[in-house]
Amino acid sequence: MSDTKLSKLVQRREILMGLAAGTMVPFLSGCAENDALGRSQLMLISDNDLMQLSDAAWEESLKEERVLRDPYYARRLQRVGNRVVASSGLDHLNWEFVVLDSPTVNAWVLPNGKVAFYKGILDLMDTDDQVAAVMGHEIGHVAARHSAERASQRMAAQYGMSIVESYLGGRSDMQYNSDIAAALGAGVTFGVLMPYSRQHEYEADRLGIDYMVAGRYDPRHAIDFWMGMSQLHSGNEMAFMSTHPSNDDRIAAMRAHMTGSGYV
Ligand SMILES: [Zn+2]
Repeated sequence: MSDTKLSKLVQRREILMGLAAGTMVPFLSGCAENDALGRSQLMLISDNDLMQLSDAAWEESLKEERVLRDPYYARRLQRVGNRVVASSGLDHLNWEFVVLDSPTVNAWVLPNGKVAFYKGILDLMDTDDQVAAVMGHEIGHVAARHSAERASQRMAAQYGMSIVESYLGGRSDMQYNSDIAAALGAGVTFGVLMPYSRQHEYEADRLGIDYMVAGRYDPRHAIDFWMGMSQLHSGNEMAFMSTHPSNDDRIAAMRAHMTGSGYV
């Protein structure tokens, strides 16, 4: 084995050991603390890597999907997006709001602040407050670092350290991996629908309502919207309901949060 090869191997082994020491071990006793949630999370992906993977997923999505050029839709999403971002305190990200030209009823966000709403979901929204309800919920997933947590959980549970190793060793293989893109949030584009866990949904709901109120939107429109979505859920084509399971418990929890926080 040549010296270069050996030193590369040692280097890589040390990165893995470092990763294990820095993240896998704390996992056993509790890991990165998230201030927005007040709980700790498993984090196997660095912020830097997360941004790079998200940038790649966004670029790929814009190639796969058709962007709607109708200024009415674009302005509406931009207007609501700016206001909700301002109340979320996440204005350090380079936010972008894009309407995709498809009847798909869904919306998603990547950890780098790239937000996609399909025309199909916007057409179901009578008010900006309802747009803000979904926008707040999606931005809540970003604040809560759910994508990174989900990707980390998948890496740890399904692949173990081997994927961490291949990720560090051959990053290019991972960039357009649909599984990772789905874990980050762009699942519809890549045809891999990965539902958020109930805990993630509850957390995003709560944060979303806080952002609505801080942005002076009426949080009761969130209840209206989710109830309407529940009723529409009879068909299987509802992508949003596949990735964002809705149920009476969630709506009850939103009501309780609104009442408990004195919002209504
Ligand atoms: Zn969600």
